Amino acid sequence: MILIVDDNPDNIYSLQKLLESKNFKVDTAQSGEEALKKILKYNYALIILDVQMPDMDGFEVAENIAGFSKTKETPIIFLSAVNTDKRFITKGYDSGGLDYVTKPVDPDILLLKVKTFYRLYEQTQALKDVQQTLELEVERRKQAQKELRSKVDYLHTLLESLPQIAFTCDNRGNIDFVNGRWFQFSDDATIFPQTYPGDRSIAAELHASLQSGKPLEMEVRLKKSVCGEYSYHLLRVWPILENSESNWVGTFTDIDAQKRAEKEKDEFLSIASHELKTPLTSIKAYMQLLDRKLKLEEESAEAKYVNRVQGQVDKLNSLISDLLDLSKIDNGKLLINKKVFSLEHMIKSAIDSIIQTHDQSNMVLYRQGEIGDLLIYGDEIRLEQVLVNFLTNAYKYAAGTEKVIVDCTLVEDAVKISVIDFGIGIPVEKQADVFEKFYRVEETSFDFQGLGIGLYICAEIIRSHQGTIAVESSGEQGATFYFTLPLNLPVDAK
Ligand code: ADP
Repeated sequence: MILIVDDNPDNIYSLQKLLESKNFKVDTAQSGEEALKKILKYNYALIILDVQMPDMDGFEVAENIAGFSKTKETPIIFLSAVNTDKRFITKGYDSGGLDYVTKPVDPDILLLKVKTFYRLYEQTQALKDVQQTLELEVERRKQAQKELRSKVDYLHTLLESLPQIAFTCDNRGNIDFVNGRWFQFSDDATIFPQTYPGDRSIAAELHASLQSGKPLEMEVRLKKSVCGEYSYHLLRVWPILENSESNWVGTFTDIDAQKRAEKEKDEFLSIASHELKTPLTSIKAYMQLLDRKLKLEEESAEAKYVNRVQGQVDKLNSLISDLLDLSKIDNGKLLINKKVFSLEHMIKSAIDSIIQTHDQSNMVLYRQGEIGDLLIYGDEIRLEQVLVNFLTNAYKYAAGTEKVIVDCTLVEDAVKISVIDFGIGIPVEKQADVFEKFYRVEETSFDFQGLGIGLYICAEIIRSHQGTIAVESSGEQGATFYFTLPLNLPVDAK
């Protein structure tokens, strides 16, 4: 807006009309005092100031304007009778734009000057806006940096107080902070501790994690700087997202004692099951001898007792075998002896042994899904063990129902073998857990005996055949356990 200051209303009127005709917004004042009040209250792009006014003349007004910080840069055009007034004009007013127009006013010249000042005003205003935005941005960044610094300090204090070895690194894997414990294992704050020869490489695994953006978790043996001994540590590295840039924080937790205890437990399990197996094999053999020697009537009570003893010995035997398998899996020694074999033959053998051991049951076992003489490359004995396990579970957890089905279907380049029962089923949220070591569904664990390791062993066996294993169950209408095996025979067997 432009302010016109003149004590003569006619002058004001004609100037106002002239400027408004060119789309300028105009305000007016008829005295120096009125002008000063308005100038303090509003912002003007330009002031057109008559020099000769009663009470306070134009120069005084200009001097006052120059004295206020808010207005000192507002440009002024003086309207004066003669141009000799010029030397007074600069008095006390040395910033902002300044010019004069002699009376009578030449409208073209005045408009030319107004336009120039107005453009100048707009440019200055725009520059000011940019400057203000920049200042705000600088301030914001300073604040953000301060906050980040204090967060980083907080994180470092936290990591320093941890009982673990801790570090942070950027998303290229460059280590930028390590806590005090680091130096028990590495002399250099930028180099990872030395690991046991043959263990997975920390740098390589970390690199893969950084690339994928996924957290890293691995067990490694780290070498202690002082004694050179290795101890097991669990390394965990997690991304921390900060303004879409990720930094990573890592910890090494000492799990050596835990590992040693696990090893001792595995060794004990292995020795105990071996020791148990020897006398049990003798009991089994003597029971068979006794059975043959006594030549008991099939229907006699004694024959039934001998039968039951043999049944219980078989159960004990399979429990001990499971324990042995478990310790073999934990030691990575579960051997898989792959050969080409007929799948149907394996299924028949599993069904026969189940029917034999469950001759008291009224359940009918159906075989469904033709596969002809389909050949599979795998460990027949171990895969039969999986099927027998599924079937034993079906007989156990669906006892009292009418039937159980063994089904085979071909799915793309795999074969799917399912055991379908109509027993108690498994709640959906627990289905994934049944393949975990020692897991038993809580609701039913009191009603049925078991160790919770059968399905864990099955999962390991199927995994080592590159197959899949799963269960489907919609609650209490039974369960379908299945595994798939790839149909990839070795070239020389086709
Ligand atoms: P165990 O039967 O010795 O407990 P498993 O590893 O064979 O151990 O099975 C783990 C758990 O899965 C069982 O405790 C049981 O809760 C559940 N489960 C397995 N098979 C079935 C089934 N056919 N129907 C219902 N629940 C089952």
